[in-house]
Amino acid sequence: MTRKISALAFALGCTLSNSAFAAPKNIIYMIGDGMGPAFTTAYRYMQDDKTTKIVEPTVFDSILVGMAHTYPDDDTVVTDSAAGATALSTASKSYNGAIAVDTHKKSLKTMLEIAKERGMTTALVATSQINHATPASFAAHNESRRNYDEIADDYIDNKIAGKLPVDLMLGGGTKYFIRDDRNLVSEFKEAGYQYTDKFNKLDSLSRLPALGLFADVAFPHAIDSDEPKRLTTMTNKTLDLLDKHNEKGFFVMIEGSQIDWCGHANDIACAMKEMDDFAGAIKAAKAYIDANPDTLLVVTADHSTGGLTLGSNGVYQWKTEVVEQVKASVKELTNTLFDMNVDQMAKTWTQLTGLPFDKETEKALTGAQKDSKEALYKAANKLINDASFTGWTTKGHTAIDVQIFAYGQGRDAFIGSLNNTQIADKLISFIEK
Ligand SMILES: [Zn+2]
Repeated sequence: MTRKISALAFALGCTLSNSAFAAPKNIIYMIGDGMGPAFTTAYRYMQDDKTTKIVEPTVFDSILVGMAHTYPDDDTVVTDSAAGATALSTASKSYNGAIAVDTHKKSLKTMLEIAKERGMTTALVATSQINHATPASFAAHNESRRNYDEIADDYIDNKIAGKLPVDLMLGGGTKYFIRDDRNLVSEFKEAGYQYTDKFNKLDSLSRLPALGLFADVAFPHAIDSDEPKRLTTMTNKTLDLLDKHNEKGFFVMIEGSQIDWCGHANDIACAMKEMDDFAGAIKAAKAYIDANPDTLLVVTADHSTGGLTLGSNGVYQWKTEVVEQVKASVKELTNTLFDMNVDQMAKTWTQLTGLPFDKETEKALTGAQKDSKEALYKAANKLINDASFTGWTTKGHTAIDVQIFAYGQGRDAFIGSLNNTQIADKLISFIEK
């Protein structure tokens, strides 16, 4: 397709800019897990400068080029993150739960592996454990996303042309790397990797290969964290390191992992903080391309999560000012409120949500508190969603199309309504050039 269009442009002698379809040297691939179109729309309203009449466009709007179809290779239509990431990394659809293997559980070659074969420098960055479904589908092969130990093992055992597959990994997951049966961190160190497990020592990683694992499993949610911009920080660091090791170009996959998790929790404030961090990471990637125009950025999602809608219960409103006031994830809020008496609860509720503790709120929260933590979670979440008119249709994923964003050399190859496998196809053809 790409070649045909380029040939056509050449035959017509037209001045279609070289940069439109020419293969880039470096590829930055970003996946907002669960980030359906409602998430980027909500983020735009959240970012709006209220002193002006118009709603200002966001970094997402500045690079939007298309939409992607996300169905997996079974009859469910609704994909999970493993099948979604497998399609986005190998250009082949598979079953839900598959980590870069086909329907017959046979390994599928990933674009990261092809990049490594070609001598490119490779990297994976996530705010989940680094062996979670999305990053795993780029450098491991397993019949099930749940086999976390085996997936972590692949990061050292899955040799590409005699070398370890990934030159830089930043994320969480020490629990899976330092185990009774195997200490992968020691093995990585023996293989020459620099290592740190302290986020404030990220800068101690001064060259590649390197490994940074900053949580037992995943990072805390951005909204609950004193490092809410951790993905942005890791993205800047990653691009610094890759830039020093890009003789043959680099390939990096950066995941906004927890947009999905806040979606599963139907927690709007949590989702918006994750979006803010993901947007910061995209800005960092765009800035890198402005200084290095031979680089391509492609951003997409594996699916949408939660069936998020803006407007609910028949009311024509969506209140950003309610969402803005919420200072904790509903999970954290519930943990805090659960053991409190009614006076403490009143004070803390208003502190952490900005919402009044009126009679109805008191009745809903104290009633649920007597029942169970789960009931309190539901009650608190409902109060915030109702007050902001945020709607959700499911605790799971949905099958709607997701957006494709692209910037830099080769961006025009991603314009249109594409299957998610076509995104991978085009990226692989660039890597193979
Ligand atoms: Zn999910």
